[in-house]
Amino acid sequence: MSDYDVIVIGAGIGGLTSASLLSKRGLKVLLLEQNSTAGGLCNTISKGGYHFDIGASLFWGFGHGEIFHYLFSEFNILNDLLERESVVRKIEPGLQVILPNHRVNVYSERERLYEDLKREFSSDLTNLVKLYQESDKTENEIFNLVNKRHGYSLKNHYRQDSNRLKMLYADIAIFLKRKKNILQSFNWVNREEIERFIDLQLIYFARKGLADISFPLLTTALGIPRRGIYGIRGGAGTLSGILEKQLVRYGGKITCNSFVEEIILRNGRASGVKVRTEHSVNEIGAKWIIADTSISNIGDNLIKKKRKKARFSKIAKKMGHGLVPFTVLLGVDERVIPEQMGEHAIMMRHYELPPEGDNVIFISVSPSWDETRSPQGKRCITATYFIPADESANIDWEKERGNKTEEMINFLEQLLPFVSDFVDCSYSIAPDDYSRITLRSNGIARAGNCRSDIYGFNGLSLKTPVRRLFIVGGDAFPGSGAAHTAKSGVRVAEEILRKI
Ligand SMILES: Cc1cc2nc3c(=O)[nH]c(=O)nc-3n(C[C@H](O)[C@H](O)[C@H](O)COP(=O)(O)OP(=O)(O)OC[C@H]3O[C@@H](n4cnc5c(N)ncnc54)[C@H](O)[C@@H]3O)c2cc1C
Repeated sequence: MSDYDVIVIGAGIGGLTSASLLSKRGLKVLLLEQNSTAGGLCNTISKGGYHFDIGASLFWGFGHGEIFHYLFSEFNILNDLLERESVVRKIEPGLQVILPNHRVNVYSERERLYEDLKREFSSDLTNLVKLYQESDKTENEIFNLVNKRHGYSLKNHYRQDSNRLKMLYADIAIFLKRKKNILQSFNWVNREEIERFIDLQLIYFARKGLADISFPLLTTALGIPRRGIYGIRGGAGTLSGILEKQLVRYGGKITCNSFVEEIILRNGRASGVKVRTEHSVNEIGAKWIIADTSISNIGDNLIKKKRKKARFSKIAKKMGHGLVPFTVLLGVDERVIPEQMGEHAIMMRHYELPPEGDNVIFISVSPSWDETRSPQGKRCITATYFIPADESANIDWEKERGNKTEEMINFLEQLLPFVSDFVDCSYSIAPDDYSRITLRSNGIARAGNCRSDIYGFNGLSLKTPVRRLFIVGGDAFPGSGAAHTAKSGVRVAEEILRKI
């Protein structure tokens, strides 16, 4: 007899999404989290009166037809959070793209964006407008297609319907042709600057640049600010807290400080977990196991049977080397933040260097309307860059932490002059820390390759090498954000509901 219908390992956004939806549908769910709070990378930590986001800080997916809109409607909390209490608020401009000699505000309204583009890239304006118009047309088609066919209904979401899939892939083939036509037809006057401007938006929303992104993903990434960028009162931890609350509200159980050591297999099927808490080690049985952790963590640590381990390692290898983040959190006097500074920016420091590593900095400033985040007259700043995992392995982060933090503050001086003189509180999160927070090996935030056999509609999350084991989270869905991760949670919840 199983103790639970479903055990979810890990309370990241993916795990929380599956667990809360399945509880709502009446399943007996247990969510086990090794940290003392839920959230994983979607979390907020408190230091010296400031409340900093440690990972996700810019949010999307709250517009009509999008993933969090669906989830909040499902839990009947949409009006409370978006309207009555304004917990979730649209931010304008959603993103600021900063190049050494340009600064563009990416507003949700295209007309406002074009005004900025006119100021910064007047000689390329016509072609840029054409690019956005063409991209938006395709993005609308993908959006409608995905929503029409998979209306987040939990009845037919991502259902394996081969006719539908065939239609979808046929459409994608048309989209792929379109990328070639569009990009080849443009004669940019400032080619390098324009390409970097587009690169930075793609890197933010899809972690891929122009050179290696597919056309559907390109249009989806450029379309994200148009559909709306949002801030959350209290920071990222509020979003995780909302989902945790729904899980408990519908009878699910969450246990923190509970480290899953092993996924127990019986007759080749996942049948339970071995979990270590401060005082004991227990085996708990379940009909289904959902793992919100990386493929390499499952293969290296959670599965003990040799042959199955090898199959996970093979998939992890296919996914390639990942990127690891280094983040600096600063509490600063708000007078040091210039008026033109957006709440979310991506900055490339030098044209001579490729748009990667510490040449690209992601910066978020806590919203001026969120007084819960910092002492009066102060604001939180989060600055991150991502470097390849193998490069990070050669850095002694404990030794270098101070230097790297100082270096980051110097980079920020470019945007926030004199910031170093106004730092009230400073804290850094190195890859080793991310590794401890998420249990992803080397602190890898995201795998290198977006392979369709791994991420595709019929991909790995539903078809793992172990029966009755599903995977959610960053390794189970293409894209780079909490919204994508939540989609992986819906997909797995639907699959389990379909099977019962
Ligand atoms: C620096 C940084 C900045 C980011 N910025 C943004 C942004 O601005 N906007 C955005 O949308 N996204 C952003 N992201 C991405 C976003 O944060 C992630 O996609 C998302 O939060 C990942 O969720 P997840 O479900 O994969 O789980 P994770 O966040 O990885 O959480 C997994 C959880 O599982 C637990 N766990 C794992 N193994 C076990 C085990 N054996 N036993 C018990 N518990 C276990 C971990 O403790 C952890 O809590 C950012 C990421 C990083 C690193």
